[in-house]
Amino acid sequence: MSAEELTPEQLEELHQALLTAREDLKATLRLANDGAKPVDLDTPIGRLSRMDAIQQQQMTRASRSTLDIKLRQVYASLETYRTGEYGHCRTCEEPIGYPRLKARPEAPFCLDCQGARER
Ligand SMILES: [Zn+2]
Repeated sequence: MSAEELTPEQLEELHQALLTAREDLKATLRLANDGAKPVDLDTPIGRLSRMDAIQQQQMTRASRSTLDIKLRQVYASLETYRTGEYGHCRTCEEPIGYPRLKARPEAPFCLDCQGARER
């Protein structure tokens, strides 16, 4: 069963959600960048806290690449909003559907196509 087209109200709500997500992601990435500064190995901190710092840095790197991907998807979605194609799957061009977009406004694919890509 294919999803319904978005109403103008839903479209506007999701557009706002995308704009908010873009600002949030940019702010979070700025913080992550600060946290990803190289560990200064000359600073006399204990061995344990140095390990902590390195571990922390690796976690920050991992979450940063996830955030980068999400931010790119948000930008791509805002672009499709401008061209009037927002809310349609980039693969099959069917409506993605409001419930899925409400959970993930930057989702580029419908559930079927997303599932096919992950298999
Ligand atoms: Zn699709």
